[in-house]
Amino acid sequence: MGWTKKVLRVDLTKGTCKSEALNMKWAQEYLGQRGLATKYFIEEVDPKVDPLSPANKMIMATGPLTGTMASTGGRYSVITKGALTGAIACSNSGGYFGAEMKFAGWDMVIFEGKSPKPVYLAIEDDKAELRDAAHLWGKTVWQTEEIIKKTHQDPQTRVCSIGRAGENGVMYACIVNDLHRAAGRSGVGTVMGSKNLKAVAIRGTKGAGGIRDGKAFMKATVAAKKILAENAVTSQGLPTYGTQVLMNVINEMGALPTRNHRDVQFEGARKISGEAMHEKRLTDGKAQLVTNAACFGCTIACGRISKIDESHFSVVNKPEYWGASGGLEYEAAWALGAAAGVGDLEALQYANMLCNEEGFDPITFGSTVGAAMELYDLGILTKEQIGMDAPFGSAQALVKLAEMTAKGEGFGKELGLGSARLCAKYGKPELSMGVKKQEFPAYDSRGIQGMGLAYATSNRGACHLRGYTVASEVLGIPVKTDPLVTEGKADLVKAFQDATSVFDSAGVCVFTTFAWTLADLQPQLDAACEGGWSMEKLAAVGERIWNMERLFNNAAGFTAKDDDLPPRLKTEPAKTGPAKGKVSGIDKMRPEYYKARGWDDKGVPTKETLARLGL
Ligand code: SF4
Repeated sequence: MGWTKKVLRVDLTKGTCKSEALNMKWAQEYLGQRGLATKYFIEEVDPKVDPLSPANKMIMATGPLTGTMASTGGRYSVITKGALTGAIACSNSGGYFGAEMKFAGWDMVIFEGKSPKPVYLAIEDDKAELRDAAHLWGKTVWQTEEIIKKTHQDPQTRVCSIGRAGENGVMYACIVNDLHRAAGRSGVGTVMGSKNLKAVAIRGTKGAGGIRDGKAFMKATVAAKKILAENAVTSQGLPTYGTQVLMNVINEMGALPTRNHRDVQFEGARKISGEAMHEKRLTDGKAQLVTNAACFGCTIACGRISKIDESHFSVVNKPEYWGASGGLEYEAAWALGAAAGVGDLEALQYANMLCNEEGFDPITFGSTVGAAMELYDLGILTKEQIGMDAPFGSAQALVKLAEMTAKGEGFGKELGLGSARLCAKYGKPELSMGVKKQEFPAYDSRGIQGMGLAYATSNRGACHLRGYTVASEVLGIPVKTDPLVTEGKADLVKAFQDATSVFDSAGVCVFTTFAWTLADLQPQLDAACEGGWSMEKLAAVGERIWNMERLFNNAAGFTAKDDDLPPRLKTEPAKTGPAKGKVSGIDKMRPEYYKARGWDDKGVPTKETLARLGL
């Protein structure tokens, strides 16, 4: 529907909700969702702001294709200054919440200030009000969603909320919608919790009208869906195995970070793979995977719905966890599994369910457990400090630590800090495997060189969804590049980062890029939105968004030193597999990347670059 052209501004301090017109000049320059909301955020918030102070703001935003018939058009993003990172944060989620926001007639909701008491925001079309949430505080995500739906007497109300992790100050708390879809990274849920905002409940009945050219839009979206249906990854690999299709592939190529990146191949990878989720268990003769699932309007359906083994030690006396639930996705399975050396699929799914139920990021949590296990292995952390033996590979420790982190109990409080703060506290900052205090996802930079550069330069800290060069370096999309070389990776990373900025701002899922290029998105946007959306305009929008985010981070105090990888990846060669003997070539790639970006050698965009992009 293009834009609804309406913004809801919620002042949590005063308890007011006001409607205002969307800035359409900015919409033409930043498109929507990630780009447009970041523009609003940067115009209104001091880059030096403490992320957990009332002066930080938080924006929930849809894109112009959210809620439309474009495939995967159900996305929304949360933009703020990240609690975990102190950098610009933009976390993107699927499910049905984003489309409902659009149906209610809002492009974005801006939250400012801090409520004096717990509240939730209730939106029914044009009507929006803050309601008391005292009865919801202390409740899990799953309980909160159930209570709100019952209160509203409408099962079609869509809810996003924080769990106890967001209330307890876990630095990597998520905002979870539709029970198991999450704006997961950088601690956006921690910011929401700091504002005493428990949940947002939305019901929209306006539908998705307002497409600029209905006939052209129908034609463009049908053609784009055909491309997804004819592509092997989006029509077979992802629906069948989900993102978990990658576990064995990445392990084979020696790029599966294992035991806090000490190793690059995991002997238990097969047991926690997408293939294993299909296999019947010896205990009950059932497979963990029940079915795949789709977010709003998605014709890929990569989501996993699974049932845990009822006799597994983690849930044997907990029937509340025996039902079908979301997971496992690849990044979570890797972080809870290989990163900690744990090869117990059922334990991983239980820990993953806790992450969904209590609202914390499984990537950062699993990596932090991996770091804690290394500290334990080195004798720096003891059994007494942790409250249990915690060697690499211990499924018991993983499960117990997930429970303790969710509740903020004992050593769980320290795990809630994330690996950067934890490792610094115990005198080993170099053992935190991340960038800008955010932990790596599931690809080792020694075996996939471009990902190392993408991590180091990601504006929200280490992230696979800011420039997913795995597509090219592993899957050959759109062209195959050698994962072990650094040559050409600066341009490759820049191209992926800029294109992803557009996809994240359009309202569609980045997984479409396994099949679509910008040229497949462009006709859909041009038909939906006024203003003439050519390829040139979209390319400029993507680059502008990336540089705008960079300017915010630079003003927040980040420098070229923060575009770096932990020493382990630069000095400890991969021990096995095709990347054996390799370290990351980040120091060679970084200056090439700055040059490709039009930045000076300190990583600051030059005057010419800013002028070219209209910044
Ligand atoms: S591809 Fe997967 S994550 Fe993306 S919209 Fe579809 S189901 Fe959701």
